[in-house]
Amino acid sequence: MAGTDDSARTIGIDLGTTYCCVAFWQNGRVEIVPNEQGNRTTPSYVAFTDSKRLIGDAAKNQVARNPTNTVFDTKRLIGRRFTDESVQNDIKLWPFKVISGPGDKPMVAVQYRGKEKQFTAEEISSMLLIKMKEIAEAYLGTSIKDAVVTVPACSTDSQRQGTRDAGVIAGLNVIRIVSEPTAAAMAYGLDKKARFDNDYVLVFDLGGGTFDVSLLSILDGIFEVIATAGDTHLGGEDFDNRMVNHFVREFKRKNKKNISDNPRALRRLRTACEKAKRTLSSTAQTTIEIDCLYEGIDFYSTITRAMFEELNMDLFRKCMEPVEMCLKDAKVDKSTVLDVVLVGGSSRIPRIQQLLQDFFDGKELCKSINPDEAVAYGAAVQGAILNAVDWKCENSRIIQDLLLLDATPLSLGLETDGGAMNVLIPKNRLIPTKATVILSTDSDNQTSILIRVYEGEGTRTCDNHLLGEFEFCDIPPAPKGAPQITVVLGIDADGILEVSAEDETTGQKKKVILNKRFYFKS
Ligand code: AMP
Repeated sequence: MAGTDDSARTIGIDLGTTYCCVAFWQNGRVEIVPNEQGNRTTPSYVAFTDSKRLIGDAAKNQVARNPTNTVFDTKRLIGRRFTDESVQNDIKLWPFKVISGPGDKPMVAVQYRGKEKQFTAEEISSMLLIKMKEIAEAYLGTSIKDAVVTVPACSTDSQRQGTRDAGVIAGLNVIRIVSEPTAAAMAYGLDKKARFDNDYVLVFDLGGGTFDVSLLSILDGIFEVIATAGDTHLGGEDFDNRMVNHFVREFKRKNKKNISDNPRALRRLRTACEKAKRTLSSTAQTTIEIDCLYEGIDFYSTITRAMFEELNMDLFRKCMEPVEMCLKDAKVDKSTVLDVVLVGGSSRIPRIQQLLQDFFDGKELCKSINPDEAVAYGAAVQGAILNAVDWKCENSRIIQDLLLLDATPLSLGLETDGGAMNVLIPKNRLIPTKATVILSTDSDNQTSILIRVYEGEGTRTCDNHLLGEFEFCDIPPAPKGAPQITVVLGIDADGILEVSAEDETTGQKKKVILNKRFYFKS
Protein backbone atom coordinates (compact mmCIF):
# COMPACT_ATOMS: atom_id res chain seq x y z
CA MET A 1 0.00 0.00 0.00
CA ALA A 2 1.26 3.46 -0.84
CA GLY A 3 2.00 5.98 1.86
CA THR A 4 -0.48 8.80 2.25
CA ASP A 5 -0.22 12.55 2.41
CA ASP A 6 -2.58 15.40 1.71
CA SER A 7 -1.58 15.54 -1.94
CA ALA A 8 -3.09 12.11 -2.50
CA ARG A 9 -6.60 13.22 -1.66
CA THR A 10 -7.66 14.33 -5.16
CA ILE A 11 -8.00 11.55 -7.68
CA GLY A 12 -8.16 11.78 -11.45
CA ILE A 13 -10.76 9.52 -13.03
CA ASP A 14 -10.99 8.62 -16.69
CA LEU A 15 -14.60 7.48 -17.00
CA GLY A 16 -14.21 5.65 -20.30
CA THR A 17 -16.92 4.03 -22.40
CA THR A 18 -15.30 0.61 -22.08
CA TYR A 19 -12.69 1.06 -19.34
CA CYS A 20 -12.15 3.35 -16.37
CA CYS A 21 -8.81 4.32 -14.91
CA VAL A 22 -7.93 6.14 -11.68
CA ALA A 23 -4.72 7.94 -10.79
CA PHE A 24 -3.43 10.32 -8.15
CA TRP A 25 -0.50 12.65 -7.60
CA GLN A 26 1.82 11.87 -4.77
CA ASN A 27 5.39 12.67 -3.90
CA GLY A 28 5.91 14.56 -7.11
CA ARG A 29 4.58 12.02 -9.57
CA VAL A 30 1.44 10.34 -10.89
CA GLU A 31 0.53 6.85 -9.76
CA ILE A 32 -2.01 4.75 -11.67
CA VAL A 33 -3.98 2.75 -9.11
CA PRO A 34 -4.41 -0.99 -9.78
CA ASN A 35 -7.75 -2.52 -8.86
CA GLU A 36 -8.19 -5.55 -6.59
CA GLN A 37 -7.37 -7.84 -9.53
CA GLY A 38 -4.11 -5.98 -10.09
CA ASN A 39 -5.42 -4.42 -13.34
CA ARG A 40 -4.61 -0.81 -14.07
CA THR A 41 -7.89 -0.27 -15.90
CA THR A 42 -11.34 -1.46 -14.83
CA PRO A 43 -14.09 -2.47 -17.28
CA SER A 44 -17.01 -0.02 -17.36
CA TYR A 45 -19.46 -2.83 -16.57
CA VAL A 46 -22.19 -3.05 -13.93
CA ALA A 47 -24.11 -6.29 -13.35
CA PHE A 48 -27.22 -7.06 -11.31
CA THR A 49 -28.04 -10.49 -9.90
CA ASP A 50 -30.63 -11.98 -7.53
CA SER A 51 -28.43 -11.20 -4.57
CA LYS A 52 -25.92 -8.47 -5.44
CA ARG A 53 -24.55 -5.74 -7.67
CA LEU A 54 -21.18 -6.28 -9.33
CA ILE A 55 -18.96 -3.58 -10.83
CA GLY A 56 -15.86 -3.79 -13.03
CA ASP A 57 -14.01 -7.07 -13.63
CA ALA A 58 -16.48 -9.05 -11.50
CA ALA A 59 -19.35 -7.79 -13.68
CA LYS A 60 -17.57 -8.39 -16.97
CA ASN A 61 -16.47 -11.91 -15.95
CA GLN A 62 -20.06 -13.10 -15.46
CA VAL A 63 -21.51 -11.42 -18.54
CA ALA A 64 -21.98 -14.61 -20.55
CA ARG A 65 -24.12 -16.13 -17.77
CA ASN A 66 -26.13 -12.98 -17.17
CA PRO A 67 -26.24 -10.99 -20.43
CA THR A 68 -29.56 -9.20 -19.98
CA ASN A 69 -28.66 -7.82 -16.54
CA THR A 70 -25.08 -6.80 -17.29
CA VAL A 71 -24.84 -3.26 -18.60
CA PHE A 72 -21.94 -1.65 -20.45
CA ASP A 73 -21.41 1.19 -22.94
CA THR A 74 -23.90 3.36 -21.01
CA LYS A 75 -21.68 6.42 -21.36
CA ARG A 76 -23.19 6.55 -24.85
CA LEU A 77 -26.57 7.30 -23.27
CA ILE A 78 -25.43 10.19 -21.09
CA GLY A 79 -27.15 13.44 -22.02
CA ARG A 80 -29.12 11.81 -24.83
CA ARG A 81 -32.80 11.20 -25.47
CA PHE A 82 -34.31 7.75 -25.91
CA THR A 83 -35.58 8.69 -29.36
CA ASP A 84 -32.13 9.89 -30.57
CA GLU A 85 -31.11 7.90 -33.62
CA SER A 86 -27.80 6.89 -32.05
CA VAL A 87 -29.58 5.53 -28.97
CA GLN A 88 -31.99 3.52 -31.12
CA ASN A 89 -29.06 2.09 -33.09
CA ASP A 90 -27.19 1.10 -29.92
CA ILE A 91 -30.20 -0.58 -28.39
CA LYS A 92 -30.38 -2.99 -31.32
CA LEU A 93 -26.91 -4.30 -30.43
CA TRP A 94 -27.20 -4.44 -26.65
CA PRO A 95 -28.39 -7.57 -24.85
CA PHE A 96 -29.79 -5.51 -21.95
CA LYS A 97 -33.05 -3.58 -22.09
CA VAL A 98 -33.29 0.20 -22.49
CA ILE A 99 -36.68 1.90 -22.21
CA SER A 100 -38.00 5.44 -22.46
CA GLY A 101 -38.28 7.16 -19.09
CA PRO A 102 -39.67 10.54 -17.99
CA GLY A 103 -38.83 13.34 -20.43
CA ASP A 104 -37.73 10.82 -23.06
CA LYS A 105 -34.71 9.93 -20.92
CA PRO A 106 -33.28 6.49 -21.73
CA MET A 107 -33.47 4.11 -18.75
CA VAL A 108 -31.66 0.79 -18.38
CA ALA A 109 -34.11 -1.88 -17.14
CA VAL A 110 -32.69 -4.90 -15.30
CA GLN A 111 -33.74 -7.64 -12.90
CA TYR A 112 -32.15 -6.95 -9.52
CA ARG A 113 -32.89 -8.93 -6.37
CA GLY A 114 -35.92 -10.48 -8.04
CA LYS A 115 -37.52 -7.18 -9.15
CA GLU A 116 -37.35 -5.02 -12.27
CA LYS A 117 -35.24 -1.93 -11.57
CA GLN A 118 -34.61 1.05 -13.81
CA PHE A 119 -31.49 3.20 -13.82
CA THR A 120 -30.43 6.31 -15.71
CA ALA A 121 -27.05 6.36 -17.47
CA GLU A 122 -25.91 8.90 -14.86
CA GLU A 123 -26.76 6.42 -12.10
CA ILE A 124 -24.79 3.65 -13.82
CA SER A 125 -21.85 6.07 -14.27
CA SER A 126 -22.07 7.00 -10.60
CA MET A 127 -21.70 3.31 -9.70
CA LEU A 128 -18.51 3.22 -11.76
CA LEU A 129 -17.27 6.40 -10.10
CA ILE A 130 -17.93 4.87 -6.67
CA LYS A 131 -15.96 1.79 -7.73
CA MET A 132 -12.99 3.90 -8.87
CA LYS A 133 -13.17 5.88 -5.65
CA GLU A 134 -13.15 2.63 -3.64
CA ILE A 135 -10.19 1.27 -5.63
CA ALA A 136 -8.21 4.41 -4.80
CA GLU A 137 -9.33 4.37 -1.16
CA ALA A 138 -8.33 0.74 -0.69
CA TYR A 139 -4.91 1.47 -2.18
CA LEU A 140 -4.32 4.66 -0.24
CA GLY A 141 -5.93 3.55 3.00
CA THR A 142 -7.72 6.88 3.31
CA SER A 143 -11.08 8.30 2.31
CA ILE A 144 -11.33 10.42 -0.82
CA LYS A 145 -13.79 13.17 -1.66
CA ASP A 146 -12.35 15.27 -4.47
CA ALA A 147 -11.98 14.13 -8.05
CA VAL A 148 -11.19 15.47 -11.48
CA VAL A 149 -13.32 13.58 -14.01
CA THR A 150 -12.79 13.58 -17.76
CA VAL A 151 -15.32 13.75 -20.59
CA PRO A 152 -14.86 13.48 -24.36
CA ALA A 153 -13.94 16.85 -25.92
CA CYS A 154 -16.99 16.72 -28.17
CA SER A 155 -19.38 16.29 -25.23
CA THR A 156 -22.45 18.44 -25.40
CA ASP A 157 -23.41 20.60 -22.48
CA SER A 158 -25.93 18.06 -21.24
CA GLN A 159 -23.35 15.27 -21.41
CA ARG A 160 -20.94 17.31 -19.26
CA GLN A 161 -23.71 18.09 -16.83
CA GLY A 162 -24.70 14.40 -16.79
CA THR A 163 -21.15 13.47 -15.79
CA ARG A 164 -21.22 16.09 -13.03
CA ASP A 165 -24.55 14.64 -11.83
CA ALA A 166 -23.01 11.16 -11.78
CA GLY A 167 -20.28 12.54 -9.51
CA VAL A 168 -22.84 14.04 -7.15
CA ILE A 169 -24.77 10.74 -6.96
CA ALA A 170 -21.46 8.99 -6.20
CA GLY A 171 -20.82 11.37 -3.30
CA LEU A 172 -17.75 12.81 -5.00
CA ASN A 173 -16.86 16.45 -5.12
CA VAL A 174 -16.06 16.84 -8.82
CA ILE A 175 -13.68 19.77 -8.62
CA ARG A 176 -13.15 19.97 -12.37
CA ILE A 177 -14.37 18.33 -15.55
CA VAL A 178 -11.61 18.14 -18.16
CA SER A 179 -11.72 17.09 -21.80
CA GLU A 180 -10.03 13.74 -22.35
CA PRO A 181 -7.53 14.93 -25.02
CA THR A 182 -6.60 17.95 -22.93
CA ALA A 183 -5.87 15.65 -19.99
CA ALA A 184 -3.85 13.41 -22.30
CA ALA A 185 -1.89 16.40 -23.53
CA MET A 186 -0.97 17.24 -19.96
CA ALA A 187 0.31 13.72 -19.50
CA TYR A 188 2.24 14.08 -22.71
CA GLY A 189 3.76 17.40 -21.72
CA LEU A 190 4.96 15.96 -18.47
CA ASP A 191 6.15 12.82 -20.11
CA LYS A 192 8.49 14.80 -22.28
CA LYS A 193 9.33 17.21 -19.47
CA ALA A 194 9.83 19.77 -22.18
CA ARG A 195 8.59 23.16 -23.22
CA PHE A 196 7.34 23.77 -26.72
CA ASP A 197 7.78 26.97 -28.57
CA ASN A 198 4.32 27.66 -29.93
CA ASP A 199 4.12 24.21 -31.42
CA TYR A 200 0.94 22.44 -32.36
CA VAL A 201 0.17 18.99 -31.05
CA LEU A 202 -2.64 16.87 -32.43
CA VAL A 203 -4.20 14.45 -29.96
CA PHE A 204 -5.83 11.47 -31.66
CA ASP A 205 -7.94 9.73 -29.03
CA LEU A 206 -9.75 6.64 -30.27
CA GLY A 207 -11.26 4.69 -27.41
CA GLY A 208 -13.95 2.06 -27.06
CA GLY A 209 -16.96 4.18 -27.92
CA THR A 210 -15.87 7.72 -28.61
CA PHE A 211 -13.39 9.43 -30.85
CA ASP A 212 -11.85 12.83 -30.25
CA VAL A 213 -9.33 14.81 -32.19
CA SER A 214 -7.92 17.96 -30.61
CA LEU A 215 -5.40 20.44 -31.82
CA LEU A 216 -3.49 22.03 -28.97
CA SER A 217 -0.90 24.73 -28.93
CA ILE A 218 1.69 24.65 -26.19
CA LEU A 219 3.55 27.86 -25.47
CA ASP A 220 5.67 28.37 -22.39
CA GLY A 221 3.96 25.48 -20.67
CA ILE A 222 0.46 26.72 -21.43
CA PHE A 223 -1.85 24.27 -23.17
CA GLU A 224 -4.51 25.78 -25.34
CA VAL A 225 -7.16 23.80 -27.22
CA ILE A 226 -7.30 25.47 -30.63
CA ALA A 227 -9.93 23.19 -32.14
CA THR A 228 -11.73 19.94 -31.51
CA ALA A 229 -13.54 17.52 -33.76
CA GLY A 230 -14.63 13.93 -33.47
CA ASP A 231 -17.45 11.49 -33.29
CA THR A 232 -19.17 10.67 -30.00
CA HIS A 233 -20.10 7.41 -31.59
CA LEU A 234 -17.08 5.76 -33.12
CA GLY A 235 -14.57 3.42 -31.52
CA GLY A 236 -13.42 -0.08 -30.72
CA GLU A 237 -16.92 -1.38 -30.04
CA ASP A 238 -17.86 -0.62 -33.65
CA PHE A 239 -14.86 -2.62 -34.88
CA ASP A 240 -15.94 -5.46 -32.57
CA ASN A 241 -19.45 -5.32 -34.03
CA ARG A 242 -18.12 -5.70 -37.56
CA MET A 243 -16.22 -8.83 -36.54
CA VAL A 244 -19.21 -10.21 -34.62
CA ASN A 245 -21.43 -9.77 -37.69
CA HIS A 246 -18.80 -11.45 -39.86
CA PHE A 247 -18.76 -14.54 -37.64
CA VAL A 248 -22.56 -14.60 -37.27
CA ARG A 249 -22.71 -14.83 -41.08
CA GLU A 250 -20.01 -17.51 -41.10
CA PHE A 251 -21.85 -19.57 -38.45
CA LYS A 252 -25.04 -19.33 -40.52
CA ARG A 253 -23.22 -20.43 -43.66
CA LYS A 254 -21.56 -23.39 -41.97
CA ASN A 255 -24.41 -24.55 -39.69
CA LYS A 256 -27.60 -23.07 -41.20
CA LYS A 257 -28.39 -21.52 -37.82
CA ASN A 258 -28.82 -17.90 -36.78
CA ILE A 259 -27.23 -17.10 -33.43
CA SER A 260 -28.13 -13.41 -33.48
CA ASP A 261 -31.25 -13.82 -31.33
CA ASN A 262 -29.34 -15.61 -28.56
CA PRO A 263 -27.86 -12.96 -26.20
CA ARG A 264 -25.56 -15.41 -24.41
CA ALA A 265 -24.04 -16.76 -27.63
CA LEU A 266 -23.65 -13.24 -29.00
CA ARG A 267 -22.00 -12.10 -25.82
CA ARG A 268 -19.49 -14.95 -25.88
CA LEU A 269 -18.77 -14.27 -29.53
CA ARG A 270 -18.28 -10.55 -28.82
CA THR A 271 -15.80 -11.28 -26.02
CA ALA A 272 -13.81 -13.59 -28.31
CA CYS A 273 -13.87 -10.98 -31.11
CA GLU A 274 -12.59 -8.23 -28.88
CA LYS A 275 -9.72 -10.45 -27.79
CA ALA A 276 -8.97 -11.41 -31.41
CA LYS A 277 -9.01 -7.75 -32.43
CA ARG A 278 -6.38 -6.92 -29.81
CA THR A 279 -4.24 -9.85 -30.90
CA LEU A 280 -4.43 -8.69 -34.52
CA SER A 281 -2.71 -5.45 -33.53
CA SER A 282 0.48 -7.44 -33.04
CA THR A 283 0.04 -10.56 -35.22
CA ALA A 284 -1.10 -11.19 -38.80
CA GLN A 285 -3.63 -13.92 -37.97
CA THR A 286 -5.50 -15.31 -34.97
CA THR A 287 -8.11 -17.92 -34.07
CA ILE A 288 -11.55 -17.86 -32.49
CA GLU A 289 -12.41 -20.94 -30.44
CA ILE A 290 -15.73 -21.14 -28.61
CA ASP A 291 -17.01 -24.48 -27.31
CA CYS A 292 -20.78 -25.08 -27.45
CA LEU A 293 -21.50 -21.65 -28.89
CA TYR A 294 -25.05 -22.42 -30.01
CA GLU A 295 -27.21 -25.54 -29.64
CA GLY A 296 -24.15 -27.59 -28.68
CA ILE A 297 -22.20 -26.58 -31.79
CA ASP A 298 -18.54 -25.64 -31.26
CA PHE A 299 -17.26 -22.71 -33.28
CA TYR A 300 -13.66 -22.59 -34.46
CA SER A 301 -12.43 -20.12 -37.04
CA THR A 302 -9.51 -17.92 -38.02
CA ILE A 303 -9.28 -14.29 -39.00
CA THR A 304 -6.40 -12.43 -40.58
CA ARG A 305 -5.44 -8.84 -39.95
CA ALA A 306 -6.15 -8.16 -43.62
CA MET A 307 -9.72 -9.48 -43.25
CA PHE A 308 -10.26 -7.45 -40.07
CA GLU A 309 -9.06 -4.37 -41.95
CA GLU A 310 -11.34 -5.10 -44.88
CA LEU A 311 -14.35 -5.42 -42.55
CA ASN A 312 -13.57 -2.02 -41.02
CA MET A 313 -11.90 -0.02 -43.78
CA ASP A 314 -14.76 2.49 -44.13
CA LEU A 315 -14.72 3.12 -40.36
CA PHE A 316 -10.92 3.46 -40.32
CA ARG A 317 -11.10 6.00 -43.14
CA LYS A 318 -13.87 7.82 -41.28
CA CYS A 319 -11.37 8.35 -38.46
CA MET A 320 -9.32 10.61 -40.72
CA GLU A 321 -12.19 13.05 -41.43
CA PRO A 322 -12.17 14.74 -38.00
CA VAL A 323 -8.38 15.09 -38.26
CA GLU A 324 -8.80 17.07 -41.45
CA MET A 325 -11.71 19.07 -40.06
CA CYS A 326 -9.85 19.94 -36.87
CA LEU A 327 -6.89 21.33 -38.79
CA LYS A 328 -9.22 23.20 -41.15
CA ASP A 329 -11.15 24.78 -38.26
CA ALA A 330 -7.90 25.86 -36.63
CA LYS A 331 -6.54 27.10 -39.98
CA VAL A 332 -3.37 25.16 -39.27
CA ASP A 333 -1.44 23.42 -42.02
CA LYS A 334 -0.63 19.79 -41.24
CA SER A 335 3.04 20.39 -41.97
CA THR A 336 3.26 22.67 -38.92
CA VAL A 337 2.06 19.95 -36.52
CA LEU A 338 5.03 19.00 -34.38
CA ASP A 339 3.63 15.90 -32.76
CA VAL A 340 0.71 13.54 -33.27
CA VAL A 341 -0.18 11.88 -29.99
CA LEU A 342 -1.98 8.54 -29.89
CA VAL A 343 -4.44 8.01 -27.05
CA GLY A 344 -7.12 5.36 -26.40
CA GLY A 345 -6.86 1.59 -26.78
CA SER A 346 -8.05 1.57 -30.39
CA SER A 347 -5.20 3.84 -31.47
CA ARG A 348 -3.03 0.70 -31.26
CA ILE A 349 -4.59 -0.66 -34.48
CA PRO A 350 -1.74 -0.71 -37.04
CA ARG A 351 -3.88 0.21 -40.08
CA ILE A 352 -5.25 3.28 -38.32
CA GLN A 353 -1.72 4.32 -37.34
CA GLN A 354 -0.67 3.84 -40.96
CA LEU A 355 -3.52 5.98 -42.33
CA LEU A 356 -2.69 8.70 -39.81
CA GLN A 357 1.00 8.56 -40.58
CA ASP A 358 0.27 8.76 -44.33
CA PHE A 359 -1.99 11.75 -43.73
CA PHE A 360 0.91 13.51 -42.00
CA ASP A 361 3.20 12.65 -44.92
CA GLY A 362 5.07 9.87 -43.15
CA LYS A 363 5.60 11.65 -39.84
CA GLU A 364 6.56 9.38 -36.91
CA LEU A 365 3.62 9.19 -34.51
CA CYS A 366 4.15 9.81 -30.83
CA LYS A 367 3.35 6.67 -28.83
CA SER A 368 5.40 7.32 -25.74
CA ILE A 369 2.50 7.57 -23.33
CA ASN A 370 0.44 4.54 -22.42
CA PRO A 371 -2.76 5.07 -24.48
CA ASP A 372 -4.98 3.48 -21.82
CA GLU A 373 -3.65 5.53 -18.93
CA ALA A 374 -2.79 8.93 -20.37
CA VAL A 375 -6.18 10.50 -19.68
CA ALA A 376 -6.35 9.48 -16.01
CA TYR A 377 -2.71 10.53 -15.69
CA GLY A 378 -3.52 14.02 -16.96
CA ALA A 379 -6.63 14.22 -14.75
CA ALA A 380 -4.47 13.46 -11.70
CA VAL A 381 -2.05 16.20 -12.74
CA GLN A 382 -4.94 18.61 -13.08
CA GLY A 383 -6.18 17.59 -9.62
CA ALA A 384 -2.75 18.34 -8.20
CA ILE A 385 -2.68 21.76 -9.88
CA LEU A 386 -6.09 22.63 -8.46
CA ASN A 387 -5.01 21.53 -5.02
CA ALA A 388 -1.69 23.33 -5.44
CA VAL A 389 -0.03 20.59 -3.46
CA ASP A 390 3.40 19.33 -2.84
CA TRP A 391 5.15 22.16 -4.65
CA LYS A 392 8.47 21.54 -3.03
CA CYS A 393 9.64 18.70 -5.23
CA GLU A 394 11.10 18.96 -8.71
CA ASN A 395 8.24 17.53 -10.82
CA SER A 396 5.68 19.58 -8.94
CA ARG A 397 7.33 22.75 -10.13
CA ILE A 398 6.79 21.55 -13.67
CA ILE A 399 3.05 21.11 -13.24
CA GLN A 400 2.76 24.32 -11.28
CA ASP A 401 3.81 26.14 -14.43
CA LEU A 402 1.26 24.41 -16.60
CA LEU A 403 -1.98 26.19 -17.09
CA LEU A 404 -4.90 24.51 -18.73
CA LEU A 405 -7.18 26.21 -21.17
CA ASP A 406 -10.08 24.58 -22.89
CA ALA A 407 -12.41 25.43 -25.72
CA THR A 408 -16.09 25.03 -26.58
CA PRO A 409 -16.60 22.02 -28.86
CA LEU A 410 -19.82 23.34 -30.48
CA SER A 411 -21.25 26.77 -31.27
CA LEU A 412 -24.00 28.02 -28.97
CA GLY A 413 -26.75 30.40 -29.90
CA LEU A 414 -30.37 31.45 -29.79
CA GLU A 415 -33.11 30.87 -32.31
CA THR A 416 -34.21 34.02 -34.11
CA ASP A 417 -37.16 34.67 -36.41
CA GLY A 418 -37.87 31.97 -38.94
CA GLY A 419 -35.67 29.37 -37.25
CA ALA A 420 -32.27 30.93 -37.97
CA MET A 421 -29.37 30.19 -35.62
CA ASN A 422 -27.90 33.32 -34.03
CA VAL A 423 -24.50 32.17 -32.77
CA LEU A 424 -23.46 33.94 -29.56
CA ILE A 425 -20.51 31.75 -28.59
CA PRO A 426 -18.72 30.31 -31.64
CA LYS A 427 -17.15 26.88 -31.39
CA ASN A 428 -13.55 26.63 -30.23
CA ARG A 429 -13.93 29.75 -28.05
CA LEU A 430 -11.75 29.45 -24.94
CA ILE A 431 -13.68 28.78 -21.75
CA PRO A 432 -14.76 30.16 -19.35
CA THR A 433 -16.62 32.53 -21.63
CA LYS A 434 -19.72 34.68 -21.70
CA ALA A 435 -21.85 36.35 -24.37
CA THR A 436 -24.67 38.84 -24.09
CA VAL A 437 -27.47 39.70 -26.45
CA ILE A 438 -30.36 42.15 -26.10
CA LEU A 439 -33.72 40.86 -27.24
CA SER A 440 -36.92 42.77 -27.75
CA THR A 441 -40.54 42.23 -28.72
CA ASP A 442 -41.90 41.76 -32.29
CA SER A 443 -45.35 43.21 -31.65
CA ASP A 444 -46.97 45.94 -29.59
CA ASN A 445 -47.86 45.03 -26.01
CA GLN A 446 -46.21 41.64 -26.26
CA THR A 447 -45.74 40.38 -22.71
CA SER A 448 -43.48 37.38 -23.22
CA ILE A 449 -40.70 36.10 -25.45
CA LEU A 450 -39.55 32.58 -26.05
CA ILE A 451 -35.82 31.99 -25.59
CA ARG A 452 -34.55 28.82 -27.26
CA VAL A 453 -30.90 27.81 -26.83
CA TYR A 454 -29.21 25.57 -29.38
CA GLU A 455 -25.78 24.07 -29.97
CA GLY A 456 -24.38 23.04 -33.34
CA GLU A 457 -22.95 24.36 -36.57
CA GLY A 458 -26.10 24.49 -38.76
CA THR A 459 -27.31 27.89 -39.92
CA ARG A 460 -30.87 26.68 -39.26
CA THR A 461 -31.82 25.62 -35.73
CA CYS A 462 -33.63 22.57 -37.11
CA ASP A 463 -30.18 21.15 -37.94
CA ASN A 464 -28.86 21.80 -34.43
CA HIS A 465 -29.46 20.37 -30.96
CA LEU A 466 -32.00 22.11 -28.73
CA LEU A 467 -30.45 22.49 -25.27
CA GLY A 468 -33.48 24.06 -23.67
CA GLU A 469 -36.11 26.73 -23.93
CA PHE A 470 -37.92 29.02 -21.58
CA GLU A 471 -40.48 31.74 -21.76
CA PHE A 472 -39.55 35.13 -20.34
CA CYS A 473 -42.90 36.50 -19.13
CA ASP A 474 -44.42 39.58 -17.46
CA ILE A 475 -42.90 42.14 -19.81
CA PRO A 476 -44.85 45.38 -19.19
CA PRO A 477 -46.99 46.38 -22.24
CA ALA A 478 -44.98 48.64 -24.56
CA PRO A 479 -44.60 49.40 -28.27
CA LYS A 480 -42.76 46.69 -30.21
CA GLY A 481 -38.97 46.94 -29.97
CA ALA A 482 -39.06 49.01 -26.78
CA PRO A 483 -38.44 46.35 -24.10
CA GLN A 484 -34.80 45.44 -23.63
CA ILE A 485 -34.26 41.89 -22.39
CA THR A 486 -30.61 41.08 -21.76
CA VAL A 487 -29.82 37.39 -22.21
CA VAL A 488 -26.45 36.15 -20.99
CA LEU A 489 -24.97 32.82 -22.04
CA GLY A 490 -22.03 31.85 -19.87
CA ILE A 491 -19.86 28.71 -19.88
CA ASP A 492 -17.90 28.01 -16.71
CA ALA A 493 -14.52 26.31 -16.40
CA ASP A 494 -16.20 22.87 -16.45
CA GLY A 495 -17.88 23.63 -19.76
CA ILE A 496 -21.31 23.96 -18.12
CA LEU A 497 -23.73 26.44 -19.63
CA GLU A 498 -25.64 29.00 -17.59
CA VAL A 499 -28.38 31.15 -19.11
CA SER A 500 -29.92 34.20 -17.49
CA ALA A 501 -32.36 36.86 -18.67
CA GLU A 502 -33.10 40.30 -17.30
CA ASP A 503 -35.57 43.03 -18.25
CA GLU A 504 -33.45 46.15 -18.80
CA THR A 505 -36.40 48.45 -19.49
CA THR A 506 -37.89 48.16 -16.03
CA GLY A 507 -34.58 47.41 -14.32
CA GLN A 508 -36.38 44.53 -12.74
CA LYS A 509 -34.45 41.30 -12.41
CA LYS A 510 -36.52 38.25 -13.18
CA LYS A 511 -35.91 34.82 -11.89
CA VAL A 512 -36.19 32.57 -14.87
CA ILE A 513 -37.88 29.26 -14.26
CA LEU A 514 -36.36 26.64 -16.47
CA ASN A 515 -37.92 23.33 -17.21
CA LYS A 516 -34.74 21.58 -18.35
CA ARG A 517 -33.25 20.25 -15.17
CA PHE A 518 -29.76 19.54 -16.41
CA TYR A 519 -28.99 22.31 -18.78
CA PHE A 520 -29.38 25.54 -16.93
CA LYS A 521 -28.99 27.16 -13.57
CA SER A 522 -31.37 30.10 -13.08
P1 AMP B 1 -10.36 3.01 -24.08
O1 AMP B 1 -11.79 3.47 -24.10
O2 AMP B 1 -9.37 4.05 -24.43
O3 AMP B 1 -10.00 2.25 -22.85
O4 AMP B 1 -10.24 1.96 -25.29
C1 AMP B 1 -10.67 0.67 -25.17
C2 AMP B 1 -10.82 0.13 -26.56
O5 AMP B 1 -9.55 -0.10 -27.11
C3 AMP B 1 -11.57 -1.17 -26.58
O6 AMP B 1 -12.49 -1.19 -27.68
C4 AMP B 1 -10.46 -2.17 -26.80
O7 AMP B 1 -10.93 -3.33 -27.48
C5 AMP B 1 -9.50 -1.39 -27.66
N1 AMP B 1 -8.14 -1.91 -27.61
C6 AMP B 1 -7.35 -2.08 -26.52
N2 AMP B 1 -6.18 -2.61 -26.85
C7 AMP B 1 -6.19 -2.81 -28.19
C8 AMP B 1 -5.28 -3.33 -29.15
N3 AMP B 1 -4.08 -3.81 -28.79
N4 AMP B 1 -5.66 -3.36 -30.45
C9 AMP B 1 -6.87 -2.91 -30.84
N5 AMP B 1 -7.78 -2.40 -30.00
C10 AMP B 1 -7.46 -2.35 -28.69
